Amino acid sequence: MSLRVGRGFDPLAALAEEPLAGRASPARSRLRSQALALARSEALVEAAYSYCIVALEEPVTEWLCAGTERLHAPWLLPAAGRLTAIACGACTLGPLLERRVAELFAERRASLAVALDQLGNEALMAVGRRAQDRIAADVARRGLTMAGELRAGDPGLALEAQAAVLRLAQAETVGVSVNASHLMLPLKSTSMVLGVGVDLPAAQWSRCDHCPTRDRCTVPARAASAQAAAGNAG
Ligand code: SF4
Repeated sequence: MSLRVGRGFDPLAALAEEPLAGRASPARSRLRSQALALARSEALVEAAYSYCIVALEEPVTEWLCAGTERLHAPWLLPAAGRLTAIACGACTLGPLLERRVAELFAERRASLAVALDQLGNEALMAVGRRAQDRIAADVARRGLTMAGELRAGDPGLALEAQAAVLRLAQAETVGVSVNASHLMLPLKSTSMVLGVGVDLPAAQWSRCDHCPTRDRCTVPARAASAQAAAGNAG
């Protein structure tokens, strides 16, 4: 199990180029620009990620045994190929942005607070994409394949697994912890578990497929548009 850490990059750089998804009003676009300028001028984003690719004990069952941790993640069991490891990652923006959001609310500048919070969500997604790209490259270098993505608390992986995922990702290296309610701290943090193995077919499922909050959640649409943008850029 070897730890990889990424920091010192700027997820806001790409966001500054990206227009707001959908038909954003001029007022919303203006607020986003203000939030971006604020995040930049006060250096509110300290992006970082850590991940480890951890071998699974044989035989691999729906209770995945990785080191001293056990995760119940039957969705990762592939229809073909061989699941041999999991990649566990943690991503964060650090604590400054969420503190600034709280201050803005306290100052009754709610519109800017909301815009900054949303910008933080976009930035965190960008950090997650970067971490996944690095993991995919790492996995490919080892001659392995990667398929399936779970996040503790979403369908497919219980929220109670969060602490184990963060231990496997060695998330404390980038300042991410979990409290007794399984909430990650800083709040603008996220974690992921990806299947790694030999000749794994592409997963035919997504953690969002049967999510009860899918209709209200903006993540699938934003992830799809980011993927399309990356495809166009490539
Ligand atoms: S729809 Fe949203 S809340 Fe549901 S699993 Fe997907 S990202 Fe998570």
